[in-house]
Amino acid sequence: MKFSELGYRNIIIDSKLISSIVNDDYLMGGLEDFCHQGRIFVRGNPYQLADLVKRSNGGIILSNFSSEFETTLESVQNVHDNIDSDLFGCQPKQMRSEVLYLKNSEKPVLIDLVGSVYGLTYSAYKEKLDCGLRLVYHAMESCPHQCTYCFANYDWASPTIVLPYAHKQLEKDLKNKNIIDLIDRGFPIHIGSISDLASTVSCHFDLLTKAVNVIKKAGARIFIGTKSTHIADDYYVNLLKSISDNIIVTFSFTNLTDLETNLPYNARRFPTPKIQKLTKKGIRVVLLYRPIIPGLNDDMEQISNTITEAIEAGVEQVGIGFCKFHIKILENLKKMESHMYPFINNMEKERIDDNYYPAFSYRSKTADQIIDICNEQKMNFFFLCQSFLNSKYSELETGCCICNPAYWNSSK
Ligand code: SF4
Repeated sequence: MKFSELGYRNIIIDSKLISSIVNDDYLMGGLEDFCHQGRIFVRGNPYQLADLVKRSNGGIILSNFSSEFETTLESVQNVHDNIDSDLFGCQPKQMRSEVLYLKNSEKPVLIDLVGSVYGLTYSAYKEKLDCGLRLVYHAMESCPHQCTYCFANYDWASPTIVLPYAHKQLEKDLKNKNIIDLIDRGFPIHIGSISDLASTVSCHFDLLTKAVNVIKKAGARIFIGTKSTHIADDYYVNLLKSISDNIIVTFSFTNLTDLETNLPYNARRFPTPKIQKLTKKGIRVVLLYRPIIPGLNDDMEQISNTITEAIEAGVEQVGIGFCKFHIKILENLKKMESHMYPFINNMEKERIDDNYYPAFSYRSKTADQIIDICNEQKMNFFFLCQSFLNSKYSELETGCCICNPAYWNSSK
């Protein structure tokens, strides 16, 4: 697929990436093609570009980019660090699909959520966040799928942000003593917590393959969270098959098609044949049915049918979770005049810290119904991040979730 077929009309490149890009035939070829149809902006030091192009074999590059750089550079310099939708001639909520930002990052891309983000002990973190997830890798800083409810994408006015060379930083991060200790204790690395590395744009940069190959060398467990059926492309099936002992794919399917309009397949039906391609090759797949939003995807017949399809596809467990709306998500939905705002605002809900959840009575009743369905169909299940549900479900909490080493040690 060509750059221009990804649908973006603008590409921003951090000037610090230019020396790597001009030596990268694949990316450079794509940009040469793209600049005839879209606009390329350089962010940072414009003179670095000129110097680098002069020093490279890039005569063609220079002539192809021509004066487009001259004009756009001035614009970007004027706005300094602000990436503003006006500059790209689009509405704020179109930024994610109109603008692709190739970002340079010198910060760690593999982090321990407990230490780096929350500054808590692990037990305090588990209690407060209802979650056992620790190691998270990101090679993108926003997700092109732009699901309306997504906790990680409440700022819709940001572009799709790709870190094309994140795997090089990953190699460095994997030498960190704390990270090595967690890997040795069996904590898996989660790929896809704030993005989807099997999304079409990520496939274009091959971010998933690069990450898996680097992590594979470190001998760590990996779980890939995705909503994209690209994960079942032959290319990825072959890659994942080669480390099937250490990998689990968590495939999210929610029956919330109207809120997931950018997925690369028709998600009105569970993609049984695609998932079978993985499981038949011995690649473990867990279905995530999350978030459950009252009135939208909590019809028990629909949930039962999804579980039936998942069993047919060879899925080993289903992870279930209710919606959780951070106050910033609600603010953003309101600002963006989303049709979801009145619906969620009027939902019977309770607030815990800065998040809204469906009312406790609803969660408890719905969980009981889903447990009955899973038991009837003999499908293993666990509830994600739900320790607030009540003590009767304590055995279903994160102890059984994929993020916990115990899941990997006890199940197969
Ligand atoms: S695919 Fe996942 S990370 Fe991406 S927008 Fe949807 S919920 Fe968020």
